[in-house]
Amino acid sequence: MKLIIQKKLQSSVDVANPLIETLKKHFPKLTLKIQANRSSILTMQHSFRHLSVSMHHLFLDADHQMIEALVTYFKKGRGAKQASFLINAFIEEKRHLIEDKKEALITQGNVYDLLELYEKTKSIYFNDCIEVDVTYFITPLKRRRHITLGLYHRGIVKVNRVLDSVECPQYFVEFILYHEMLHHLFPTKMINGRRVMHSKEFRRKERAFKEYKLATYWQKNILLSKFLKTQSKKRKQDGRT
Ligand SMILES: [Zn+2]
Repeated sequence: MKLIIQKKLQSSVDVANPLIETLKKHFPKLTLKIQANRSSILTMQHSFRHLSVSMHHLFLDADHQMIEALVTYFKKGRGAKQASFLINAFIEEKRHLIEDKKEALITQGNVYDLLELYEKTKSIYFNDCIEVDVTYFITPLKRRRHITLGLYHRGIVKVNRVLDSVECPQYFVEFILYHEMLHHLFPTKMINGRRVMHSKEFRRKERAFKEYKLATYWQKNILLSKFLKTQSKKRKQDGRT
């Protein structure tokens, strides 16, 4: 078995851990990666009859029953219903240890102070009865026609830092904040087996935004051209074509 341990974990992982020992016995050709990534808690890949697994180090706390479940899962895949069920339950139980580490919130931009806009939006549209964290997020601009402007996840509203620009009107930043705050009020629902993020009720509320028409017009007609322009300018500065 080939064991790869992410650098930052190298001093804390005991290679004689019962899980690692058991996997060694059952899968002599396994490539096992132990990591601390928040985004991929457990992934398994089969290629040319070779199995590689990447797992979060929290699995090293697995008890006997969970170790058995993992062995079964690696042998049979998702078909192993009982094992998958146990593994999912284990992940759910540990999830707070993986995700709840508070990330740093960046609210002060060069042009817009998110906290200030948040307080304003909160009092105008939510009667001050909503409590979320706000932060800018930075994502590399790619040559795509789509860009994520805002995100909402577990009480945190994130606004793309590209909007922190004199070229972006304030009402548009407020509109993105408002939209993401609505996600806090209207959690994603399952309707006829489909995930519905923007229900009718959500869209109705969204239209209550004072500059709704201006904001949607700006998003459809001006936003992209601004980004394309910035990108081509950047490419020229970089000396690329
Ligand atoms: Zn949305």
